Amino acid sequence: MMLGYLLARAGIDVTVLEKHADFLRDFRGDTVHPSTMQVMYELGLLDSFLARPHSEVRSLAVQIGDELIQIADFSHLPTRAKFVAFMPQWDFLDFLAEQAGYFSSFHLLRQTEATGLAHEAGRVAGVTGTGPDGPVTVRAELVIACDGRHSTLREASGLHVTELGAPMDVLWLRLSKHGTDPGQTLGRIDAGRFFIMLDRNDYWQCAFVIQKGGIDQVHARGLDAFRAEIVRLAPFLHDRVQELATWDDVKLLTVAVNRLETWYQPGLLLIGDAAHAMSPVGGVGINLAIQDAVATANILVPRMKNGAPTLDDLRAVQKRREWPTKMTQRTQVVIQNRVITGVLSSTQTPKPPALLRLAGRVSLLRRLPARVVGMGFRPEHIRH
Ligand SMILES: Cc1cc2nc3c(=O)[nH]c(=O)nc-3n(C[C@H](O)[C@H](O)[C@H](O)COP(=O)(O)OP(=O)(O)OC[C@H]3O[C@@H](n4cnc5c(N)ncnc54)[C@H](O)[C@@H]3O)c2cc1C
Repeated sequence: MMLGYLLARAGIDVTVLEKHADFLRDFRGDTVHPSTMQVMYELGLLDSFLARPHSEVRSLAVQIGDELIQIADFSHLPTRAKFVAFMPQWDFLDFLAEQAGYFSSFHLLRQTEATGLAHEAGRVAGVTGTGPDGPVTVRAELVIACDGRHSTLREASGLHVTELGAPMDVLWLRLSKHGTDPGQTLGRIDAGRFFIMLDRNDYWQCAFVIQKGGIDQVHARGLDAFRAEIVRLAPFLHDRVQELATWDDVKLLTVAVNRLETWYQPGLLLIGDAAHAMSPVGGVGINLAIQDAVATANILVPRMKNGAPTLDDLRAVQKRREWPTKMTQRTQVVIQNRVITGVLSSTQTPKPPALLRLAGRVSLLRRLPARVVGMGFRPEHIRH
């Protein structure tokens, strides 16, 4: 959606296919990072974005056992917005779709699912799919696959994917929020447990991390045991865990971390999770996808004003974004392997590592994680 906006803004005719009728789905995370808001500031969109309901998180804390430790402080970032904005992703996407709709060169086809690639003269020349009125073919000088971590177009391309592995899956659930609840503590860590709570104003969006493939064991222990686990991690939720009436209220999100070796073919480019599926660690995947979109527009817009991009242009996009992707995924995998695996297999309350304790005491040390999470490894800026 962001790339659709940027291309349409540059006067390039762009059609975005979205398989759903709306963006109202609950599996995407909520974080809009300082670097994404910097991009919106550069586009003149920041004030109207922040006028939409959201909450602002200026520092991150984690509770390990009974100890609350501050781990990141965004207030010193060299960006316009020195906080992470929490906004349900459907609101963010609605906002971008509305803004893009002001450009006559922008077209959004909802309820239109891309099911395959159309080829012509040895190159990708469009997509085939199904829309509300039946089969459709959309022809294009360039197809950009932004269809997420289960990308159909990546599958259709046959490009090689390298799996980096993830030790966990996530159970995604919501519980109501009361006025007397404590403020946002993002992560709670205890013996064998990792629990994250996102403030969505009138309810808590919760992520309960389990060992990969461990869903059958969770089910076998029963819903009462699961509710009791939640209360152990966040005792103030005791009066509402019954809102989880059946397992239907607890969705399983499988986590994958992988990336393509080559992000393009003649006529086709892949970006975002379609090129590199991100772990939820750090909540940075949305931001990385947005940064890919900005870099893609920066590189391709001058070329596309004069015709179709060449393979060298597509290669330039991968070259620009591959390093930040690798750095981010490496960081995520280290945290997965060193922290999350250890926590999930522990039977005693883990002790905070010395460095984390130190960060809790020395404010300067909280700036580095804030920079990595808030801005990423190579923040992009609007060029055209
Ligand atoms: C459990 C979990 C929690 C996460 N939490 C966070 C978080 O808090 N913050 C964060 O930054 N990142 C988070 N992430 C990572 C983040 O969700 C992704 O990195 C990010 O959404 C990638 O953006 P994208 O635009 O590439 O793909 P997506 O956000 O997946 O968007 C793909 C879009 O394409 C549409 N689509 C898919 N297939 C087709 C098709 N065939 N035809 C037409 N349309 C199609 C989909 O409906 C969707 O709208 C989380 C990931 C997981 C697994």
